[in-house]
Amino acid sequence: MRAMVLQRQCEALQPKDLPIPQPRARQVLIGVCACAVCRTDLHVVDGELADPKLPLVPGHEIIGRVVAAGDAADRFRPGDRVGVPWLGWTCGECDYCRSGRENLCPRARFTGYQIDGGYAEYTVADERYCFAIDARFGDAEAAPLMCAGLIGYRTLRMAGEARRIGIYGFGAAAHIAAQVARYQGHEIFAFTRPGDTAAQQFARSLGAVWAGGSDEAPPEPLDAALIFAPVGALVPAALRATAPGGVVVCGGIHMSDIPAFPYEILWMERSVRSVANLTRRDGDEFLALAAKIPIRTETVTFPLLEANEALARLRQGKLTGAAVLIPNTA
Ligand SMILES: [Zn+2]
Ligand SMILES: [Zn+2]
Repeated sequence: MRAMVLQRQCEALQPKDLPIPQPRARQVLIGVCACAVCRTDLHVVDGELADPKLPLVPGHEIIGRVVAAGDAADRFRPGDRVGVPWLGWTCGECDYCRSGRENLCPRARFTGYQIDGGYAEYTVADERYCFAIDARFGDAEAAPLMCAGLIGYRTLRMAGEARRIGIYGFGAAAHIAAQVARYQGHEIFAFTRPGDTAAQQFARSLGAVWAGGSDEAPPEPLDAALIFAPVGALVPAALRATAPGGVVVCGGIHMSDIPAFPYEILWMERSVRSVANLTRRDGDEFLALAAKIPIRTETVTFPLLEANEALARLRQGKLTGAAVLIPNTA
């Protein structure tokens, strides 16, 4: 099978012919229909996340069809369409796993990081961590739901009952979170790179009541801010834009260092927190909601062999919505 492979961090992916993987016990073999490109893939490729499996097939927003199953796998049948997310395996035994917080399992293994992922024609995944995908979504359209959607949803949930929600970084996760937030009755204030009028227009088209640069103050103080851009300097910026009692939620796996800031912008019971990974319960809840709303994802498709180009476009901030790799189109 064709695959795009990371041999060493900080190098371009290499096209390779690899043997089709064989599903073990609880795994299914999946023919990949689409795999979205996540900022986390960039962090892995660019060396900002340590110790990936190497060589590695990246990609953890996979939509595909089950081709075969391991001896102990019985959840799906050949032909079923499934989604494979970032959370690839957890121990099931630790305090986190046993208290509904498998996203924090210290032994968790992640797709496209410690487990080969979806930048390939085939992949294997543990069936217990796969999701059934509603027929209303096309393959490419469904792919960004697997991480941008899920993490965006978990991040939004941490905003609680906030009415006015600021979103910093209006990319793949934000464009999905904004639709959920609007459906739930929140007001969205979108912050983009200063001067990025295209992203601001995109945010308004998704129902944002205000859109501007991250260097601007919103017209009213925010009750919560979600940060999806990997820029630590946005944390104090978001705190300054947030009302007393508000929360700033960092939705990314990596950020540049957060600059020192005066205590007064945290004072008055503001808080800063991060969101890590996902639980399978997040996935079940979010995918049901996504079908009901229904979420519409904005995608730009690339043939699998153009994965490096897709990563470059994401790195440069030149994408509206999510990049999605499609095998068998090159
Ligand atoms: Zn565990
Ligand atoms: Zn991701």
